[in-house]
This record gives sequence, C-alpha cells and structure tokens, in this order.
Amino acid sequence: MPEISDYWKNFINNKWVDGGSDRLSVQNPSTGEHLAWQAMADANDINDAVSAAKTCHESGVLGAMRPVERGRLLRHMGEWLLERADEIATTLCLEQGKPLWEAKREITNAARYFEYYGSLSEALEGKSIPLGENYLDFTLNEPYGVSAQIIPWNFPLEIAARSIAAGLATANACVVKSPELAPLSSQYLAQAAQAVDLPAGALNLVSGLGTEAGAAMSTHRDVRQIVFTGSVETGSRIAAAAAQNIVPCVLELGGKSAAIVCRDADLENFINSLRAGIFTNAGQVCSAMSRAIVHEDIYDEVVERAAALADSISVGPGLDWVEPGLNMGAMINDTQRDRAEAFCERAGKDGARIVTGGHKLNSPGSFLQPTIIDNVDPASEIGQTEVFGPVISIMKYNNDDDAINIANGTQYGLVGGIFTKDLDRAMKTARAIRAGQVFVNEWFAGGVETPFGGYGKSGYGREKGSEALLNYVQTKNIAIRL
Ligand code: NAD
Repeated sequence: MPEISDYWKNFINNKWVDGGSDRLSVQNPSTGEHLAWQAMADANDINDAVSAAKTCHESGVLGAMRPVERGRLLRHMGEWLLERADEIATTLCLEQGKPLWEAKREITNAARYFEYYGSLSEALEGKSIPLGENYLDFTLNEPYGVSAQIIPWNFPLEIAARSIAAGLATANACVVKSPELAPLSSQYLAQAAQAVDLPAGALNLVSGLGTEAGAAMSTHRDVRQIVFTGSVETGSRIAAAAAQNIVPCVLELGGKSAAIVCRDADLENFINSLRAGIFTNAGQVCSAMSRAIVHEDIYDEVVERAAALADSISVGPGLDWVEPGLNMGAMINDTQRDRAEAFCERAGKDGARIVTGGHKLNSPGSFLQPTIIDNVDPASEIGQTEVFGPVISIMKYNNDDDAINIANGTQYGLVGGIFTKDLDRAMKTARAIRAGQVFVNEWFAGGVETPFGGYGKSGYGREKGSEALLNYVQTKNIAIRL
C-alpha cells in the first residue's frame, strides 16, 4: 500500500491550520480501513476562511491584475497538478475507490479547467451600448467577491477545480468545502495555489461536515455567491439559505438520465457508451446513464449484450486497475453500497427482473456487482429514483413519443441521449428531451468547453463552458453624459 500523509490540515489565508471540530478518520473504501486523519472545520474556521477571502477581495489584488496574468497563474496551477498526477491520483484512488486510471483522468480533467478558464479570463468582455451622440455607455463584468463552493465526494478534485478555476478567472476569492468522505486529494489544489504564489486568501480550502461547516458557509453574511454540487435535498437547503442573504447560487444536483436506443442504433457503439455511462466511478456520477429506453425490436439483444458486458467487468480495489478496461472500483462506503443494493432488492419485489448483479461482493470493501435490471416500470421506484451506483434500468418502447415521454418522466433533467443513425430523428428527439445536455451516439460526449447543468430538480445555472463565467460576475453598466 503506498504511503500517504497521516494527517491533512485545512488551508486558510495561505496557512495550513487545524480544525475547530474533531478530526475525522477518512476510510479507504476498497478495504474499509482507516486511511488518514482530516482536520474538520467548525463555524469559526469558516468565518476565518470567509474573512480571509473578503480581505483578499477588498484589497483589490485579484481584480487589479491584468486578466492575462490571472490566467497565467491558473494555467500554472493546472501544470503543477499534471506534474504530480501520479501522486495525486494514488491519493484520490485510495480515498474514493475509483480505478487508478479513472483517478488519473480526473487529474487531467481538473488541470484542463485551469487551462481553459485561465485562457478565458482575458476573453470575458463587456459591451458598449449606443445611446446617441451625447452619451458613452459600456458594461463591466465585476466579481461578486467571496464565492463559496461546496463539493461532493464523487469527483472531489475535478468538481472543485471546475468552480475554483472559474471563480478565480473572474477575480472572485474562493472558499471551498471539500467533501468529508473524500477530503484529501482536493488539498493538492491548495498546494498548487501556494506553488504559484496566488495571493493569500484568494483560495481557502477546508473540510468539514455538511451540517456544520457547509451550513456555516451557505448562511455566512459575507458570502456573495454560492456554487453547490450534490444532492437535491441539500441543494434545496442551500438555495433557501442563499435566498435569506439574497445571493445567487448555482445548483448542480442529481439525475436519472436516460438513453433512447433506436432500432437502427449501432449496438456495439451503444454498449461501449453503456459501459462508460453506468460503470464509470461505480455509477456514482450525476450524469450517469441510469436508464436505457430500448426499441422493442432490439430489446432482447440489448439486454443480453448489456448483461454480458456487466458479467465481464472485474470489480476490485482501484489501485489494481492501472489501465483503462473492463474494471470497476469500490463505491464510496458501505452505506452507499447497501443503499444501492436495497434499491435492487425492492426493484425485484416491484416486478422488475435483476438480469445480473444486484448484490454486494462477499469481500472487504464497499463493492457492488455491476447490475442490469430489465422489465422496469418507468413509474416504479427504480425507474424514478437516483441509485448513484452501478445499476442500470432497461425499459422497452415501441414509438418515439413513448420513448420521449419515458425519458422526460422523472423529476430530473440533467442529461439525456439518443442512439440512432437517423439524424432527423436524433435532432427531433434532442429538442424534445428536457435536459441541460443531450448526447447523440456517445454518452459523455462534450468536455470542459460545453455548458453543463440541469433542468427541473437537477438544478439551475451552468458549469463548464464559457457560460459558466456568467455565474461568477455581476454586470455593472456605466453611462457617461458627454
Ligand atoms: P450531499 O448533498 O450530501 O453533499 C454534497 C456536499 O454538501 C458535501 O460537501 C456535504 O458536506 C455538503 N452538505 C451536506 N449537507 C449540507 C448542508 N446542510 N449545508 C451545506 N452543505 C452541506 O451529496 P453527496 O452525497 O456528497 O453527493 C451525491 C449527490 O450529489 C448525488 O445526488 C449526485 O447526483 C449529486 N451530484 C451532482 C453533480 C452535478 O454536477 N450535477 C455532481 C456530483 C454529484
């Protein structure tokens, strides 16, 4: 087992500090054993972090920089991460359970946010508005000030990088709360900030319990903008707290996203997408392909091929999976694993068929078998509720309208997809799907450059792409009488 530091601190105002709350034992989900201790922030620590960010913002140091200089600092942070990708990926793999190759990809993606938003920092322009010869009118994009960012455990490094890079690119000072279940690897982001000499207070990174540190952040009066990624329940609480202080928030919440598989789909291509769509990160992906709605003529073949795929996936400790392939790691902990297993059991009682999987592995670690469920009633619990595990529900359709109605028939609307060779059908369906992002013939198509976010209970506001920057700035109009 690789050695990692035994005790991880919080980073406030450019200093590594202990937490006011009890330190927390971080577990390795592949073994269930203690991995390291994490300092946990209490409300006083959050106050210190917000004060440091506020002081940094009010000093004007970030806003005074020419955007290209801020952008260079961000790009250097990304390069710093890439230079240490092996070390960071090992930490991420140990604390979160994902395969090592997926952890390395997460570091690459995190670095990409610093590269992308580093470049865009100098491209966010205001406009001039014609008011006739007696006036000169133009707009400025100004930062909110203190941006509070609350991060979930499924992609702790990548999701933190996403909001930190956009926040700093627009000259906001950031206070970031890492998830208590996987708090370690995101600390490399603070190390990167130190390495490039980011001004003190520009990035503060703390861990802590949601109900303690998270709640203190979302209710703090000096926080001027909130970015939250996580569950619908918590998102709703954070939106209420933001409303109390009249601050905007971006909510990236859950999903129950569906792929529509048409009769003419390239099935080998679809099965490849299914593998990535539901077995990446053991299915703990907000935009997972957790439902497949399959044309009746190809239904049996799709179910058979999906089951063969699931049976061919090796499940075990993330460190064993160095190369991309048919492998899957642990879920984040036993609680999440048992929750997913209970969903499968109840689905069986509700009349669905567990084609393969549905059970935990008989070994230490939080492992669940790759699971295919068919004959799913779209209105049933398994057809409606986010499992957040390696479990896909397959349903049958016989006309396009039915498929679209099933796809749109949940409270969520994060992503959707269609697999067909018919471009006309693909376009009509893409328009009809109520989701923030639609994939045609490849699940997860897109990248850092493409806007991402939800319809319905999947949230509001957009991360990724240039659109995201608009969440981090407020427009000031200046009208000059000449
Ligand atoms: P969660 O809502 O329990 O926790 C997310 C974060 O919020 C954690 O840092 C947690 O400490 C904090 N938190 C918890 N209670 C809080 C409170 N009362 N006030 C402030 N902060 C609080 O979610 P989770 O279990 O960590 O993540 C899984 C969920 O997140 C799933 O539903 C998944 O779909 C969703 N998710 C969405 C996206 C996306 O981009 N849309 C990405 C990842 C995860």
